[in-house]
Amino acid sequence: MADDCLLLDSGYVRDEFCAVYAYVRDGRVMLVESSTNAGIDRALRLLREKTGLGSDAVEGLILTHVHLDHAGGAGRLLQLAPDARVYAHPRAARHAIDPAKLVAGATVVYGAEVFQRLYGDIVPCAAARVVVTEHDTVLDWRGLQFRFFHTRGHANHHQCIFELGSKTLFTGDSFGVSYPAACTSGRVFVPATSPTDFDAEEAQKTVRFVRELGVARVGLTHMGWIEGADAIAGAADQLKFFLSFAAYDLKRFQSDPTFTEQECVSLLWEGIVGASERFGYVLSADAREILDLDLRVNAQGLKYAAGRVS
Ligand SMILES: [Zn+2]
Repeated sequence: MADDCLLLDSGYVRDEFCAVYAYVRDGRVMLVESSTNAGIDRALRLLREKTGLGSDAVEGLILTHVHLDHAGGAGRLLQLAPDARVYAHPRAARHAIDPAKLVAGATVVYGAEVFQRLYGDIVPCAAARVVVTEHDTVLDWRGLQFRFFHTRGHANHHQCIFELGSKTLFTGDSFGVSYPAACTSGRVFVPATSPTDFDAEEAQKTVRFVRELGVARVGLTHMGWIEGADAIAGAADQLKFFLSFAAYDLKRFQSDPTFTEQECVSLLWEGIVGASERFGYVLSADAREILDLDLRVNAQGLKYAAGRVS
């Protein structure tokens, strides 16, 4: 079933870390997610290898949200694809057009040097080429229908995209991250609690929503397909559990001024190790390293949320 949508590995951070998805109809292309500047270049190269189609065949790019690992390459794509439009949540559209605030925020999270290495110079999207996608509306494109659901918890400008024909849901960062290489058996799903909008209750609501929508497969940006109702329900169970765990750490940040991000990272990792039997996954030898960036950014997000809620 996955054949009607191509998974293009953007190579962001490392292999199998960050996906760009591509639908091809009538020799034209609709992308979901752009990844970064370097990521979109690699995705377009893979698209050409797999289909023979160049960037000028791209008619659209649907973004789940504008965090730069998902949308940092959107402006660059518009430069390379003269016919393309960007489809984004109303709050995300603003940032795609004027990325200054986004860049400033991400520079705080990553530091200036790492930011430049990961993302480079962010190209703004021309306002006339950005289409706002309201909640529960549908985009018809060459016989495919993409329905948009605004989903909070990870970011207030986040949407999930439901391709109705195949019942495929693209969940961005709202249904966790799960890297195939982190496990030698089964899969571990870790919620993305990064700054600055993380809301544990809303995140739980979004997980319930995905579970109950009747999805046949999920396309995770980080990373890959989760196919079948059982696998999706299993992922939802893990996310529910780890979100409760994260909420506990958030409270710890609120109540204990000596609680550090590093301690939080250790606790999050211990939780993942401790839950392996319960959820039937076996962590690989590299799992700690593979999840390191997420755990650190998650701890930052929990600390931020704790400060805000007070
Ligand atoms: Zn994100």
